[in-house]
Amino acid sequence: MAVHARTLEFYEQLGLAQEVVDLGIVMNAMHLWDQGKLKADIPIGHFGRDLSPFSFVLSFPQDDHERFLNEKLGYSGISIEWDTELISFADDGERVRATLRKDEHEEVCEVAYLCGCDGAHSAVRHGLKLDFIGGAYEQTFYVADVQATGAATATGGVNMCLNVKDFCLVLPIRSTGMQRLIGIIPDAVKDRENITFDDIRPITEKLFGISVHQVNWFSTYRVHHRVAEHFSKGSAFIAGDAAHIHSPAGGQGMNTGIGDAVNLSWKIAHVLQGRADASLLATYEPERIAFARTLVKTTDLAFQIIVRRDFAGRFFRTFVMPYVLPPLFHFRAVRRWMFKTISQIRITYRDSALSVGEAGTVAGGDRLPWDGVGGSDNFEPLKSLDWQVHVYGEANMAFRGAVSERGIALHVFAWTSMAEKAGLKRDAFYFIRPDGHVGLAHPAQDIAVLDRYLAQHGIRMKPPLTP
Ligand SMILES: Cc1cc2nc3c(=O)[nH]c(=O)nc-3n(C[C@H](O)[C@H](O)[C@H](O)COP(=O)(O)OP(=O)(O)OC[C@H]3O[C@@H](n4cnc5c(N)ncnc54)[C@H](O)[C@@H]3O)c2cc1C
Repeated sequence: MAVHARTLEFYEQLGLAQEVVDLGIVMNAMHLWDQGKLKADIPIGHFGRDLSPFSFVLSFPQDDHERFLNEKLGYSGISIEWDTELISFADDGERVRATLRKDEHEEVCEVAYLCGCDGAHSAVRHGLKLDFIGGAYEQTFYVADVQATGAATATGGVNMCLNVKDFCLVLPIRSTGMQRLIGIIPDAVKDRENITFDDIRPITEKLFGISVHQVNWFSTYRVHHRVAEHFSKGSAFIAGDAAHIHSPAGGQGMNTGIGDAVNLSWKIAHVLQGRADASLLATYEPERIAFARTLVKTTDLAFQIIVRRDFAGRFFRTFVMPYVLPPLFHFRAVRRWMFKTISQIRITYRDSALSVGEAGTVAGGDRLPWDGVGGSDNFEPLKSLDWQVHVYGEANMAFRGAVSERGIALHVFAWTSMAEKAGLKRDAFYFIRPDGHVGLAHPAQDIAVLDRYLAQHGIRMKPPLTP
């Protein structure tokens, strides 16, 4: 359900963000309930103001989201071959031969690269014989789409129950007018076989003071916390749940998978277009696996806080959440910290071989900070999906000419207090990757530094268009 700012920033590069925002619901508040009583509201609407053009959490169900992306692929002339299963593959070092099955018919498809975005049971991960290190939580989760009435269904925001024993979220869905419930099967019914919604109905209805009139679907599942030992081998890669899975706390899984796909796709495109050496692909794993490992640890911690039955867990849910967090949220620093933590804008690839230099507090590997309130928007040029040089302040004539000679777009932005607050350095130059992360940051406009970077990473610009 939760679509975070970093994903919307990527979509903005593709011109899709506004449509997604319009299809979803901006979460303005988190409402905390206990036994049908509203205990507290946390105003999370636009809590990332000045940090991202998308300063909120968007609620947009994944099935609607997938349909949307599928339609957009269709407009680009790409159609997904549904009901086609990867059975096996072989990588001979030159090409990957993938055996696919559709309607009992098998065919071999030969490709330069293969990426397994095939979920937790990934055939590609198994084919690469990669360990999926971690374990499973003992709790069983449920998810349901229901039509319901009651105060919690009218808030338009995220509703969370704070009960000592139970955990459940209720979120509205714009496209159907239904409510999605996500929770942990309560202890009282967890040992029953073939649990249905009616088993959890009395407890759930009481938690939020709602009446459920219709259940569209109901499903139970176990949650694992695992990260694959590698995200690539030879010419095959894995991304999304195939590479990492964790608890849904914080709504991070799909967003992280989309981040993997963005990271890998521009690199593969560069290599296939002859614009970079194949060694560029080796930066995918270190950049993404580091974040996946941190994410699994932090969502694990959040999950433990939610489910712990001991004094600390109960204290957090019944005292810290309703009485300490809401007043804390009035402090700008707390709101900004929360936003940075969950929106994924803090993801950095500083340790990557592709990341060089530092200017101000912004270093190679960081997501380019947003500077778009009031004057020009520094994210606008990212829509080119290509490398570009940014200068905040003034660019001297010699540097302008040299960047242009190399076929690289140069964008010069007026020096603003927002740029300063974001940690950018006046008159420094930042060489931005196609995914909006800084590749190279350098405090002076020195073209030799840019040349060294291009040579070191074997990156070539697109040949200029001939008339
Ligand atoms: C209740 C719940 C709530 C969640 N809420 C959020 C949230 O708010 N925000 C968020 O970011 N994440 C959330 N997540 C996590 C998110 O749903 C997953 O991270 C996401 O679905 C992973 O996407 P994926 O494409 O990697 O894998 P999947 O969604 O598992 O898709 C894999 C696809 O590959 C196909 N496939 C599998 N094997 C093969 C094969 N051999 N050949 C061909 N195709 C194959 C499958 O059919 C499937 O279509 C939630 C998860 C749950 C369970």
